[in-house]
Order: sequence, then C-alpha cells, then structure tokens
Amino acid sequence: MPDMLNARNWFADVSAHRSRRFLASRRDGVMIHVDDAALINFASNDYLGLSTHTAVCMGAQGACAESVGSGASRLVSGDHPMMHRLEAKLANWKGFEACLLVGSGMLANIGLLQALADRHTHIFSDRLNHASLVDGARLSGAAVHRFSHLDIAQLERLLVKHPAKRRIIVSDGIFSMDGDAASPTNLLALAEAHDALLIIDDAHGIGCMGPDGKGITAVCNIENQSRLIEVGTFGKSFGSYGAFILGNHEIIEGLRQRQRSMIYSTALPVALIAAAETSLLLIQRGEERRQLQQNLALFKRRTADFGFMASDSPIQPLVIGSDAAALKMAMQLREAGFFVPAIRPPTVPEGTARLRFTITANHTREQIELLTDCLKGLL
Ligand SMILES: *Cc1c(COP(=O)(O)O)cnc(C)c1O
Repeated sequence: MPDMLNARNWFADVSAHRSRRFLASRRDGVMIHVDDAALINFASNDYLGLSTHTAVCMGAQGACAESVGSGASRLVSGDHPMMHRLEAKLANWKGFEACLLVGSGMLANIGLLQALADRHTHIFSDRLNHASLVDGARLSGAAVHRFSHLDIAQLERLLVKHPAKRRIIVSDGIFSMDGDAASPTNLLALAEAHDALLIIDDAHGIGCMGPDGKGITAVCNIENQSRLIEVGTFGKSFGSYGAFILGNHEIIEGLRQRQRSMIYSTALPVALIAAAETSLLLIQRGEERRQLQQNLALFKRRTADFGFMASDSPIQPLVIGSDAAALKMAMQLREAGFFVPAIRPPTVPEGTARLRFTITANHTREQIELLTDCLKGLL
C-alpha cells in the first residue's frame, strides 16, 4: 500500500529543492567555518560582535560558577535578584515603567499575544511581521487583519472597518527579511486615534539603531506612551539569548499573571542574565554601535548602484528573483570566501529570492571592501 502513512513518510510533502539543512558550522569571531572552509560571515545577527566580547563572556562565566540551570519557573523557585535588577535597568534605559524577562523572542511574542488577546480581540498585523507574532496571534484566537507592508492608510481603513473594544496593532520595528523600518510615530498616532494597543517588536533594532541604540521607537517620546508595548531580544545585538517585554506597570503585572510561555517555562539561566547586563552596559557606551554605523556606511557607499533594497539597518538584502539564481550567487560568494545566505520562499514572497547580507561591528574595512569588490564582479 504505497500511500500508507508512517513515521518515515510523515513529512513527504517537504519538497527536496526547498529543504533546509543545518551547517554544522563553527563561528570564530567574524569568521565562520563551513565544510572545512573559513569564510567571512555576513549572515549573523550578532550586529555588535558582543557574542564573543571578552567582558560579556566573562560575565556569563562568573555567573556560571554559581549555577548553570535556574531549576524552575520564576514563579516557583527559578527567580533571582539579578533578573529584577536587569528588568529595572532595561525599563529605565528604554523609558518604560516596567519590564519582564522571557525565554526568547519567539516565546515572548507567542505568550504576549496569547495573554493580551482572546476571540473578542482584533489584531492588526503587518503582512511581513515575524513568524512569532503570526503564531502568537493565531494561538490567541483573535480575529486577525493583515495590512500590506508599511501601508498606514490601509491599516487605518481596517481600524475604521473593525470597531471592536479590544484592538491591538502589531508590527516589527526593523523587518527581518527586508531590513526596512516601521514608522512608530504613525503607528502610535493611529493607535491613539482608535484606542488600540500598539506592540512593536524591535528585535533587530534595539542595541544598534536609533538614538543611543534604543531602537526605532526611541524617536517618539516613549516615556509618555502607556499604550505602547515593546519586545526586544538578547539574541541579536545583545549577543546572547533571551528576550524582554517593556510596558506600563499594569500590562507587565498582567503578563506576570497570564503569560503562559513565561509561567510554564524554566527561567533564563543567570549566566545569560549576567551576559545581557554586560551587553547593556556596552550598548550604552556605544563604541561597537559607532563602529557598526561606520561599517554600514562604507558598505552602502560601495554598493550604492548595485540595486540593494532601501535599508538603513544592518540587514542589507539584494533581491535576485529566482531561487536558482539566488542559490548560484550565494555559492559563487562562498567560493570567493564569503558566507551570505540565499533566502528563498516561503520565508520571502515567491519570485523575491534574495541574498541577505548582515553587517556587523566586527567586520574590518578590508573585509567589506573585498566583499563589495567581489559582488561588483558577480553582478
Ligand atoms: C529574531 C526575531 C524574533 C525571535 O527572537 P529570538 O530571541 O531569536 O527567539 C522575534 N521577532 C523578530 C522581529 C525577530 O527578528
């Protein structure tokens, strides 16, 4: 019986030419070792190079001397004074009343939307929002209305059309596959006008973008905006792992009671809390961010006429079109010593397969020049 389902053909619908694979790669600073080749890594979200920063690693090591695992959920016995201290520092830095640490950005968004929304809630979501926001909205059971990417006018029409009591506008800050930015000022104005909450997930922006590295919402006077909830992760600019949610006292207290992805999950290890605390200090000092901005300016200057998408963030995508062409170019770059991933559908829309370059503080001037020279030859 050929189409009997069993554990070996359960996933038979995953097409071979779109299969994903782990690389068993090893990172060493800005280099990445793949299949015995040492490549310059242009595929990391470690924008400030903090994942290998001595002070950050030492901070984690010091805390590890005490314990590796936290032993339980924070609500049972996994809590630690360092967690409260870091929450206070993050809230204070970002200008919010309160903060809640969560296991990861994925867990933060899944739990946040599930806690805030129910089937009587309407969620208004940018079409290119991160998968964690899509999944959180789905899990919540809310009615979801998607608006075209960055289309504020369409969002407004949807808000007018769906006048519910509980409404939440949700958007990435910096969009992870396009590298472009939402407009927090416009989103906030709409949230105000229509009495909605606004969630901005600035996973890619916090630490490396905006005034003092505070991300894209830092331009709109967040201190006074109690309807704004913001999500950040430690997995990108902070260089480690974990995430946090910022909001007013009542929202954060409510999440402490209701956020299932935090309540029913083991607390973050203190080593990661210590690492994040050190990263925050370095981000506030700003040295790595200034280096990143210099590198980014150099990259953009040298690729100005290559047809890159418009992006001021460290995410610099070049749309190639077909899957095959994008893969071929990624392979050519690899042969020349650069690691740049080809991002294909379904991660991005059909026909927009792309190379996604990420620039970091740790790249040298020479490495960026080598890359852009090589790219010029290929194009
Ligand atoms: C990376 C990312 C996440 C997930 O964060 P993790 O800490 O890696 O789980 C969530 N939202 C956005 C916009 C992201 O880019």
